[in-house]
Amino acid sequence: MTEKQSVLVIDDEKINLKLIREMLNDDVDIMLAQSGEQGIRKAVEYQPDLILLDVLMPQMDGFETMNHLRHDARTSAIPVIFITALNDSSHEEKALLMGASDYIQKPLHTNIVQARVRLHLQLVKQRKMLELLANIDPLTSLANRRKYQDVFDREWKDCVDKKSCMSLLVIDIDNFKQYNDCYGHATGDKVLKQVASVLALQVLEKGTVARYGGEEFVVLLPSHSQADSMEIASQCMQSIEALNLAYSHNDFSGRVTVSVGGCTKSPTKNCNRDDLFKAADDMLGVAKKSGKNKMLWKLL
Ligand SMILES: [Mg+2]
Repeated sequence: MTEKQSVLVIDDEKINLKLIREMLNDDVDIMLAQSGEQGIRKAVEYQPDLILLDVLMPQMDGFETMNHLRHDARTSAIPVIFITALNDSSHEEKALLMGASDYIQKPLHTNIVQARVRLHLQLVKQRKMLELLANIDPLTSLANRRKYQDVFDREWKDCVDKKSCMSLLVIDIDNFKQYNDCYGHATGDKVLKQVASVLALQVLEKGTVARYGGEEFVVLLPSHSQADSMEIASQCMQSIEALNLAYSHNDFSGRVTVSVGGCTKSPTKNCNRDDLFKAADDMLGVAKKSGKNKMLWKLL
């Protein structure tokens, strides 16, 4: 991660904004706000990594501002450090109970501000890295099943709103268990990685590819018609076969192949979102039973 992290400073006094900007400017991207209202707007719009929040401000004070930030899903996870001239432990306690990450007393000392900001930005970085790892399949670097479910829920809602259709492909490597028995799991893992790369390359920004589990992959194609999706699925199958991965026991061509079950549906508010996967998975089952290395589709 080479991109600079960003800090939003909310303080009613220009001199403090200037001071904090000078203290931090080399390390981070700084945004400034001179009131609680302006700070909330900027936090929503720019999603800073960290917020420094003055307690004493006219109109909306730091506590009220914090309350707004915490009750808005768009800003509730952004860590906040309170900054105050108040030398009162009850205020510090209140701030921490409201969910503040830290509390810095004025007058501000450059080293203290820099150290605290650095610490909390490091924690943000670690949290983001953990989130990323929690969503990625470590073998193939594709989205994992958990990430796929998140994306599916979001795209489903989007397709309902836009009244557009959605296609789902369930792709499974043919006779993969026997492949592993034949060539060993290390070679099997290489096949999974290569198949994953081909799928990612074929789909690109058109949709989301995820490893659903084992040798099964899913491709979600929002706003894609059946014809377009079948074309993409067909290209995926051809490109995987073109990898020319030897599989002498595979009946079809002596190469690694996949079967595909697909489904296209126009989601509505009341329909069951599990139907799409179930139909695609059923089609995959039929493709497997009827000889493999083929694609079958259902339009719901
Ligand atoms: Mg103030």
